[in-house]
Amino acid sequence: MKKETFALIDCNNFYAACERVFNPELICKPIGILSNNDGIIVALSNELKQLGIYRGTPGFKIKDQIKKYDIKMFSSNYTLYGDMSARVMKTLSQFTPDIEIYSIDEAFLSLSGFEYLNFKDYGRKIKDTVWKWTGLPVSIGIGPTKTLAKVANRFAKKHKYTGGVFDISGHPDTEKILEWIDVEHIWGVGRQYAKMLRRNGIENALQLSRTPDKWVQKKMTIVGLRTAKELRGISCIDLETDIDPKKEIVCSKSFGTPVTELQHLKEATASYCVRAVEKLREEHQVASQIMVFLTTNRFKNDPQYANYANSRLSVPSAYTPDFLKAAHNVLKRIYRSGYNYKKVGVMICDIIHQSKAPLDIFEPTYLDDHRKVIMDCMDEINGKMGSNKLTYAAVGTEQPWQMKREILTPGYTTNWHHIPVVHAR
Ligand SMILES: [Mg+2]
Repeated sequence: MKKETFALIDCNNFYAACERVFNPELICKPIGILSNNDGIIVALSNELKQLGIYRGTPGFKIKDQIKKYDIKMFSSNYTLYGDMSARVMKTLSQFTPDIEIYSIDEAFLSLSGFEYLNFKDYGRKIKDTVWKWTGLPVSIGIGPTKTLAKVANRFAKKHKYTGGVFDISGHPDTEKILEWIDVEHIWGVGRQYAKMLRRNGIENALQLSRTPDKWVQKKMTIVGLRTAKELRGISCIDLETDIDPKKEIVCSKSFGTPVTELQHLKEATASYCVRAVEKLREEHQVASQIMVFLTTNRFKNDPQYANYANSRLSVPSAYTPDFLKAAHNVLKRIYRSGYNYKKVGVMICDIIHQSKAPLDIFEPTYLDDHRKVIMDCMDEINGKMGSNKLTYAAVGTEQPWQMKREILTPGYTTNWHHIPVVHAR
């Protein structure tokens, strides 16, 4: 059996930590990050958790505590978090060619072939480098399987003495550690399976690893069996390093306040459409279909309506005006007046790489056309001057439908005008 080693790197309280990097006043303060439209708390710093506040708590419900404990609340600044995430991943890729970006703040690294190294020291070096280069704290778990690397990561996070880095491979206390991991916290075991396991008296990772294969496969399919084997140290889940090219691109957001006017819906649709086609070009792709959807708020006691429809382009394109025209036609078809709309969005599908676009007798392909020249030029200007510096009249100027983000921090790393200023005395 080939011996493998994986490391799981996970940023600690990622969103709160990103806010802290640029505002040292927040160090050691309880921080909460709100969802879109400043609704519920989606991310917390440890200090806020210690006050007994949970993920999912509506922001308005803790008004008194915010004052009493000086809790700092923020709108989610996804531009900042996305950019900081890219910096972390870039830093990690210095340490191994084999990296799987697992989520915005987590990555698996393969350390197979690095056996001559002391993994704990190497992990510490990774941790220190990420801290030095990005200002973000991470925890690192190392193990012979991805599932055990996850376990080790949890252990590193919970036990201060590890210094945030823990290698479980061949550790004399492996069994004790597995016993300490509740089934709910095993990577890949969903809530329903966790309940089923508990009903059958299996409460922790050690017990699951000792359960007969036949039973596990019968109750949890081959996927569950893989997890059980991984807990025993047999690597069954490979690193996924090739990222599939996107099959579809969705851009949509809930409105800050309900929208009724077609004109405002048109602006919002245009704005999401612009972003979606930008993403398409970032991946050097073209697409030939766009879908538009809209919906009212099903949690309100208002008349309800939701609908969607598609439109096809004559040839695959990445030229924004092609999609804007199609999207507006679709929207006009599905819009009904008299409703309070909560959300509108676009989905771009039938995506292929630019170079694979089929030829057409009557029209040039996007790649050989002036449309590509115009789009490249726009992307370059916006890349240099800041996003949406150059945009389309269709997105509107006032944008009263924009998401509510009343306590948004600056785009410290993505906007020239928001770069922090340091004063020295
Ligand atoms: Mg994290």
